[in-house]
Amino acid sequence: MILDGKQLAQQLKEAMREQVAALAKQYGRKPCLNVIIVGENPASMAYVQNKIKATEYCGFDGELIQLPESTSQEELLRIIRECNANPTVDGILVQLPLPKHIDEQAVIETIDPDKDVDGFHPSNVAKLWLNQPTIVPCTPMGIMALLEHSHTPLEGRHAVVVGRSNIVGKPIAKLLLDKNCTVTIAHSRTADLGAVCREADILVVAVGRPRIITGEMVKPGATVIDVGINRTDNGKLVGDVDFESVAPVAGAITPVPGGVGPMTITMLMHNTIQCFQKRINK
Ligand code: NDP
Repeated sequence: MILDGKQLAQQLKEAMREQVAALAKQYGRKPCLNVIIVGENPASMAYVQNKIKATEYCGFDGELIQLPESTSQEELLRIIRECNANPTVDGILVQLPLPKHIDEQAVIETIDPDKDVDGFHPSNVAKLWLNQPTIVPCTPMGIMALLEHSHTPLEGRHAVVVGRSNIVGKPIAKLLLDKNCTVTIAHSRTADLGAVCREADILVVAVGRPRIITGEMVKPGATVIDVGINRTDNGKLVGDVDFESVAPVAGAITPVPGGVGPMTITMLMHNTIQCFQKRINK
């Protein structure tokens, strides 16, 4: 089974578009997301364009703030504080990675936690791990929506997450744990990655290395979620999973592109609506 993220994302965006129209009628304004990008990294520019397209589709207000590579950290923090103070802004997204002279953590910590649509602020991360209501990072939430939509059984199953980043690996491990999976987190120092992956009923791969997971590393029938986005020398987008050799072994698999990527963007829309609702009801 192919887990079609593109199709599910479209369905969810259509529903959110109606929800946004209803919210605008009820409250006299639309949810507003400001997206900030520093520099001209081509991959980041493409992600930002897709995010803006989705906000337009859903009928949000918002501003794309494009800043030159040379922008100082102070200037960026000043702009974030301005967005924090602006009552009509519900969500703030700073596209990562940032130029090397800017401290990413300082930027994340400057965003008002109530407007932190990425869910990266330490207070939102803490709430996630303490089982308190919070803003959940978009990619892990998109993965959970795909699993839920495909009725993948989770309770009591063994989930292996390859990668331990703050934005994907750790939060998806926590969400799977919340669904009563038994969770293993693998990383670059894991001895015998293949043996660990072969234990997985659900295998989530977020590494950033093209086709690192091959068919013989996958348990027959497993659900395989490929988070990786890698561009090959000839410009093709490929995941971290070798689709050709894994698809015949897996029970279900996400394609790249068209799997986790569109779900991530859709969950950004979801989080923006959540921030809007929380702020308007304050
Ligand atoms: P990071 O670089 O932050 O983390 C990569 C993780 O992979 C690290 O924990 C690292 O281990 C681990 N790793 C590296 N090499 C190996 C290896 N040989 N064996 C096992 N583990 C390894 O990446 P991100 O989590 O930010 O992103 C991962 C991928 O997902 C990228 O391709 C990124 O582009 C993509 N991505 C896709 C999104 C989407 O919407 N589809 C959203 C976000 C990311 P260690 O900690 O030991 O260094």
